[in-house]
Amino acid sequence: MAFEGLAGRLQETFNKLRKKGKVTEEDVNQTMREVRLALLEADVNFKVVKDFIARVKERAVGQEVLKSLTPGQQVIKVVNEELTELMGGKQSKLEMAPKPPTIILMVGLQGAGKTTHAGKLAKYLLKQNKKPLLIAADVYRPAAIKQLQVLGEQLNVPVFSMGNEVSPVDIVQKGLEYAKQEHRDVVLIDTAGRLHIDETLMNELIQIRDVANPTETLLVVDAMTGQDAVNVAKSFNETLGLTGIILTKLDGDTRGGAAISVKAVTGCPIKFVGMGEKLDLLEPFHPDRMASRILG
Ligand code: GDP
Repeated sequence: MAFEGLAGRLQETFNKLRKKGKVTEEDVNQTMREVRLALLEADVNFKVVKDFIARVKERAVGQEVLKSLTPGQQVIKVVNEELTELMGGKQSKLEMAPKPPTIILMVGLQGAGKTTHAGKLAKYLLKQNKKPLLIAADVYRPAAIKQLQVLGEQLNVPVFSMGNEVSPVDIVQKGLEYAKQEHRDVVLIDTAGRLHIDETLMNELIQIRDVANPTETLLVVDAMTGQDAVNVAKSFNETLGLTGIILTKLDGDTRGGAAISVKAVTGCPIKFVGMGEKLDLLEPFHPDRMASRILG
């Protein structure tokens, strides 16, 4: 389950606070020391933690909280609100182009879950009565095209591919023409990843982006890699200009650092989270629900 460690520690801290009838400034400070440690142990970015604690303290020791009848509850409420805000505040939805097709470019490192999540998004879009097309533009990972074709067959969604000897830019160009001919209204482009960010990969993605002119450029990133995920997101965003993030493998992420800090560090909202390998294990990301899940 996601956030096990963090949720357990915060719940323990808040239970102590709830029991107190009167809450002093020192109680708030002690609570915030514990929250700070719990967040750092959950692998949340250091600077993000520092700013977060400062904001909560300012509100919690202000009139708004300590003078209230249930100050303990109020402190918890402030933490909940600030955590929601930290993760993006309102839900950030998938944008649709005013004139179809909507083009969604999926980028990310190898193994992050791009191909799987192209399939999951196709399924999600089918449920919204859209007519997706998948474009197989990952020509480097040997099994990627086949994997996408298998997903397409399972979902009954067409997959455009030209094998792995044509340049991804050409594949995308032809794929988009095909989408228009066939009146597909959302196009999902699965691109190649590498093990690490390198210039060749980024240059290729820039070329694809310029040809595709996507409505959404979504980074698919593995939550289990914690702050590495945040750094990857920062770097992709600086080079490509992301519109959102799909945080995968949250089902296996016991810490939660990436989910909590990626928006604050990059400015890019998490739009979806992956909760398992199966195609229906994709959830739109709701910062408020996630905060409540963490705080119990
Ligand atoms: P790609 O190289 O980025 O296209 O990655 P894949 O889509 O091939 O995924 C890599 C591995 O991660 C596969 O074994 C997937 O089944 C697995 N995977 C993808 N998304 C999730 C997820 O949300 N949760 C879990 N537990 N596994 C996932």
